[in-house]
Amino acid sequence: MLKRLFSLLIIAALCLNALPLSAWYEPAQFAPAQFEPAQASTPAQPMWPTAYGPVGGEMPEPVEPEPTVVEPVLPEDGGELPLPYATNAYPDYPMFQNTDEAAAYMLEQMEMRNANFGYQIIANDPYSDSWSETVSALGAEVREKVFTHNINSPAGGDYLLKSYRGYDSCMLHMQYYYENGNYYISSYVVWYENMKYYTTPEQEAQVGPAIEKLISELDLRSSHKSTYDKIRAVYDWMVMNIEYDFYHQENDSDYPTQYSAYAGIVERCCVCQGFGTLFYRIMLTLGIECRYISGVVSAEGGRHGWNIVELYGQYFLCDTTWDSNGRTYADQGGYPYPGHSWCLLGKNSRFGERICDEDKQVLMDTLPVSQCSYEAHDAARTSGKLAPTCTEAGATGSGVCPDCGVTLENFAVPSLGHDYDESGNCSRCGKVKPAYPLGDLDFDSDVNVRDGVVMQRVLSGLEADAELLESADLNLDGDVTVIDGVIMQRILAGLQAE
Ligand SMILES: [Zn+2]
Ligand SMILES: [Zn+2]
Repeated sequence: MLKRLFSLLIIAALCLNALPLSAWYEPAQFAPAQFEPAQASTPAQPMWPTAYGPVGGEMPEPVEPEPTVVEPVLPEDGGELPLPYATNAYPDYPMFQNTDEAAAYMLEQMEMRNANFGYQIIANDPYSDSWSETVSALGAEVREKVFTHNINSPAGGDYLLKSYRGYDSCMLHMQYYYENGNYYISSYVVWYENMKYYTTPEQEAQVGPAIEKLISELDLRSSHKSTYDKIRAVYDWMVMNIEYDFYHQENDSDYPTQYSAYAGIVERCCVCQGFGTLFYRIMLTLGIECRYISGVVSAEGGRHGWNIVELYGQYFLCDTTWDSNGRTYADQGGYPYPGHSWCLLGKNSRFGERICDEDKQVLMDTLPVSQCSYEAHDAARTSGKLAPTCTEAGATGSGVCPDCGVTLENFAVPSLGHDYDESGNCSRCGKVKPAYPLGDLDFDSDVNVRDGVVMQRVLSGLEADAELLESADLNLDGDVTVIDGVIMQRILAGLQAE
């Protein structure tokens, strides 16, 4: 009902020319390098439902019809069989030893957004009528492995499951041979026909590099960034730079791209499924545990997708979509600009009204999802809290939450690194940027091959003196990496000098 009212108000607003049309047209235009808040003028009455963001941008499970068993034709009098039933009938479907290998292959094919592919699992079983049950179980096992969440597989797991729309058919077969009067199964064969995705192969290929570019621009690989810093940086960037795709959600809900992380990071305009899968993939890319959660926003509400993310031992709820909308509609009863109304909350919060899909509720019940917000637990860590300095690591502190009773562990937080301004002084501690020549790691006022040796020792972790680490950070990005090693080589080769 709210949604319907909302649509009517949008149409009314458009008719009255109360909204700039550009706010609704051509999502590709929403790709500003520097975000400028949308300049929507206020209509006669608020069009933003005060309690809820838009819903409907979450597609239910992919359509996966029951697999079709391709029955073999056994000749009545026995003997060898003609193709396609004999071995080597499926040269395009590679042969694997087990379901792990087959799952890795299927994941790779899906990541490339291939529509048609198949695989075989090698066997040497006497023929039995139960072969179809065996291949069916193998196919299901492979599928299960493909969609299993794994922090080391940012483009798999929840991301992949929400990136594809199902297929027309899944075919099950086997190959067999005849020997000394008996049939033997040589392989089980599974193939998919017309698998459908929310992105094209060309679009999908842009997602990984775009995420890497963002991570580099936000400097999230720096050893001076804490897990909290990283989560907040990504959250804020998404809220500030990605628009909700009202246009397609209202006018063309079949338009597949709106549901993708691609639309979020490249076109900067997507619906909640795009927000949620993008957040998931970026977090996993950074090595931070995260899950995609779907369900309805209330007992009468529509479908929606959001995230839980792990921070210092607990999971917290995040909804980048609704904070992005709050930002867009800050002047129409939305959430406070720039909006952290849905950032790192606990179950006992405005998220409490949401009803998760069954499998997601299992996650909510089995993972350590916090009852309280991150902020509340940060405040409850009253013992041993230590702020990091430029050169010294800090600690989150520990404590027991007075509200939920959870014991909060102490976690280390990294040192901040110096923040040199243009005059060469650290804005935090005032330290003057070292004056010795760039690359002079043994502080003998000369840069030579001995400094190259020191650099190698720093890079292999054999030297970790704070002062030395600082000197070895030749590109001043707060981190000693292989890039500093390359700069060192260039200095020694006379190609670079400060
Ligand atoms: Zn608590
Ligand atoms: Zn400093």
